[in-house]
Amino acid sequence: MKSAWPEGLKKTKTRERVLDVLEQEKCPLSALEICARIGGEGAVWPSTVYRTLEQFEKNGVVNRLTVMGSDTAVYELNRFCHKHYAVCMSCHKIVPMENCPMEAFTPRVQDDGFQVVGHNVEVYGYCAGCACNKSEGK
Ligand SMILES: [Zn+2]
Ligand SMILES: [Zn+2]
Repeated sequence: MKSAWPEGLKKTKTRERVLDVLEQEKCPLSALEICARIGGEGAVWPSTVYRTLEQFEKNGVVNRLTVMGSDTAVYELNRFCHKHYAVCMSCHKIVPMENCPMEAFTPRVQDDGFQVVGHNVEVYGYCAGCACNKSEGK
């Protein structure tokens, strides 16, 4: 299903393609991965993709995440209310989580007027493939 074009954003070819790629992916992607997926005819420069993602982030179209042990930011479409990911410490694969540990949690913030609008949860471990290699290998 296609989501509506984000308000306040001019349509450009690159923006359309970046959005297309993100719409088809379940997992967050780095700018370079997005670039590689656009590929083919009329490939775009990574710098263009970075700029596009920055713009998207400002407009709330995408979420920017950085995962443990990596300097590379990854991006996901801001279509789920929110979602968490588990990160494999070995291959840095990002696996979506189905639940949120914060759902039943009310943050108590020392500043009375503080409005909580979001949170980050970092879960890490080994993905099925890496866990398997670990127990077999040695
Ligand atoms: Zn792994
Ligand atoms: Zn959550």
